[in-house]
Amino acid sequence: MAERKVRVRFAPSPTGPLHIGGVRTALYNYLFARQHGGEFVFRIEDTDSSRFVPGAEEYILESFRWLGIPFDEGVGFGGSHGPYRQSERRAIYKEYVGRLLEAGKAYLAFDTPEELETKRKEIPNFQYDASTRGQMRNSLSLPSEEVRRLMDEGSQYVVRFKVEPGEDVHVNDMIRGDVVINSSILDDKVLYKSADELPTYHLANIVDDHLMEITHVIRGEEWLPSAPLHVLLYRAFGWEDTMPRFAHLPLLLKPDGKGKLSKRDGDRLGFPVFPLEWHDPKSGEVSSGYRESGYLPAAVLNFLALLGWNPGTDQEIMSLDEMVRLFDITKCSKAGAKFDYVKGLWFNREYIQMADNSELAPTFDKVLRENGIEVPMERVEAVVGMMKMKKINFIKELWPLCDFFFIAPEAYSREDKFVRKNWTETAAADMTELAGLLEGLDDFSVAAVKEAVDCWAEAAGKKPWNPWRVALVGTGKGPDMYELAAFLGKDETLRRMRKAVEMLG
Ligand code: GLU
Repeated sequence: MAERKVRVRFAPSPTGPLHIGGVRTALYNYLFARQHGGEFVFRIEDTDSSRFVPGAEEYILESFRWLGIPFDEGVGFGGSHGPYRQSERRAIYKEYVGRLLEAGKAYLAFDTPEELETKRKEIPNFQYDASTRGQMRNSLSLPSEEVRRLMDEGSQYVVRFKVEPGEDVHVNDMIRGDVVINSSILDDKVLYKSADELPTYHLANIVDDHLMEITHVIRGEEWLPSAPLHVLLYRAFGWEDTMPRFAHLPLLLKPDGKGKLSKRDGDRLGFPVFPLEWHDPKSGEVSSGYRESGYLPAAVLNFLALLGWNPGTDQEIMSLDEMVRLFDITKCSKAGAKFDYVKGLWFNREYIQMADNSELAPTFDKVLRENGIEVPMERVEAVVGMMKMKKINFIKELWPLCDFFFIAPEAYSREDKFVRKNWTETAAADMTELAGLLEGLDDFSVAAVKEAVDCWAEAAGKKPWNPWRVALVGTGKGPDMYELAAFLGKDETLRRMRKAVEMLG
């Protein structure tokens, strides 16, 4: 068989905001597609209308736009395998359900919910399968005239998959190896419901993966139990030659204790579990998002990439291109990955330090405006550049560290420990002398200021830096003094120095 072009898909159901685990699933699909020169499809699985949440699809698309993960085709992207929204593919599913019925691989079942409930009460652990279907009302147990009559009457029915018992079903999983399940434990899953003329997840998922020429199904571990059924469905359709390879990713676990990561863990420990802020249309509840909390998209991707996979070295910081190069789906762990959100903070800190000032400035500009400061963007960029190495987790943490860039210290107070320690006997005289010297400078660039100050300090045997910091900042924080002075400019620098002399004496 000829090598098929790698095609993977991300196929969320629009039932709410995208969970951060879903983001990791999409990322792994993306990395896999890129490294194989393949294609990445975005499909919306919305056949369960009762769980549809308005706005969820847009939210998911916006999340990937923000993260910088593009799809090659799908909802919002177009392509030759559409439509990509399952609710727009009803006719297709109807046709394929018909094929299974015709081939005797599926059957009609007329049992009402009440009848099913009665059976469940009657038989412990009741399962609709080869051992029980004979006692139920379906096209295998009823005479054909009766089936015809029910159909003519317009009775509601479902189509069930006819699982043959006693067979070992192999799921060939790229992470878990050969997973074997005996078909006897599977039930005759509902594939289609006449009531809404819609398929269930299982049928739509298989038919679409086939028609969209998907070669690899990379998805969360929670879908592993469905995989044997999916394998059987591929076979029932006669598609075993093009059956995708599977990879079921490890679960994301709570940062502490046991069990699956949930939104409650995020609320409890103070981290987002959604990429973007989510406003629930029904309850009005607002859930925090990585974007609004001040994470950089590249930091989020890097953090997520390493939850369940690592490159086999100590390397932690990786660009998306590097991840594409290094990623290996077969090296993903089978065990769940603890959601170490503190590590997420560390990644953000590292990425802030690596980011271009121009990328960070708009965020800081917002913080400045909230504090009543409006300055040209170059000024914002300059401050971010001087301060981003201060080991901050988020840009918003910069404000208390650098308010003095924009607001001159008002009260020079000896209550301040740094002031007390550094505004020495000679400080006032030194600052006055230094101010006189700086006044004479025409060039007030960092280099020129540095040269003038260092020369004077050397010749006069002075150490003016800490008192100078007292004068310009009012306390013991801030960046390199030459950079600060150049940023403030000559007038403001002199004004602050003279005021300090006046107030501290
Ligand atoms: N619609 C399923 C979901 O919401 C897709 C599962 C799969 O990838 O097969 O995750």
